[in-house]
Amino acid sequence: MKIYLDGQLVSKEDAKISVFDHGFLYGDGVFEGIRVYNRRIFRLEAHVMRLYRSAKAIWLTPPHSQEEMAQIIRDTVRANELENGYIRAIISRGPGDLGLDPRKCPHPTVLVIADAIKLYPTEVYEHGMECITVATRRNRPDALSPAIKSLNYLNNILAKIECIRAGVPECVMLNDAGLVAECSGDNLFILHTDYRGRQELRTPPITAGNLEGITRDAVLQIAEEMGIRCAEVDVALFDVYSADEAFLTGTAAEVVPLTMLDSRKIGNGEPGEITKKLITRYRELTQNEGEPVF
Ligand code: PMP
Repeated sequence: MKIYLDGQLVSKEDAKISVFDHGFLYGDGVFEGIRVYNRRIFRLEAHVMRLYRSAKAIWLTPPHSQEEMAQIIRDTVRANELENGYIRAIISRGPGDLGLDPRKCPHPTVLVIADAIKLYPTEVYEHGMECITVATRRNRPDALSPAIKSLNYLNNILAKIECIRAGVPECVMLNDAGLVAECSGDNLFILHTDYRGRQELRTPPITAGNLEGITRDAVLQIAEEMGIRCAEVDVALFDVYSADEAFLTGTAAEVVPLTMLDSRKIGNGEPGEITKKLITRYRELTQNEGEPVF
């Protein structure tokens, strides 16, 4: 495995960063998780855009332009001959001293790992996933915005530990107002039917306190292309419990049917028809979109 680290491709053993890197000391940095499908990097430009927006939000100036960063990512995938897999791109504040002051970190660390991906078992896509609502609330946007994909993932990790202890793979996280924000590492969608039978695909707006997922965006796009009405509106737990269908979206997870939440069956407890169509369409999209990188 070859890892890109500050201008060089090095072996896994040689890919080492300083213990004074503020990414390590304070979670001070930003990152992206990106997929390679069929020798194509899925929505690379969107991921780099989000990485740079996150960097801007924490006053971190990356040493490369967005175009250069995209090229570094392509080069790393090529060097590893990775036809299908997962990319982790990180820009940390870089090495400094033991204080918080980022001015002591003049050189951000840039790191790209291209590796195999560990997926949920196929069983989850065929029969759905069970989740719980965790006690850990999603960070308040005015404290640490969930829109920033920062290296500070402790809020998500605490939620993940609650999932693990409850024996489920993912969870619903509520925001400060008690509305659905997102999952520990995925966005959430529901299919809602009103009393006049009109269906709408709903996902909480970014202002509910979540990461603006690239998969979320792709699913909104393909749902609209399929003629499904979509809305970014507040979602309460009641709406999820009473939804016809629900699913999670994320780069690693893709589209996962959510069939049970807090011991309540969603719909009939099986993956819904629209969810299954979106899974199929999303898979087609990831296999065929964009130019192969090598
Ligand atoms: N929310 C959180 C907290 C995440 O970490 C992620 C990424 N794994 C997502 C949502 C989904 O975003 P994306 O579709 O861009 O992977």
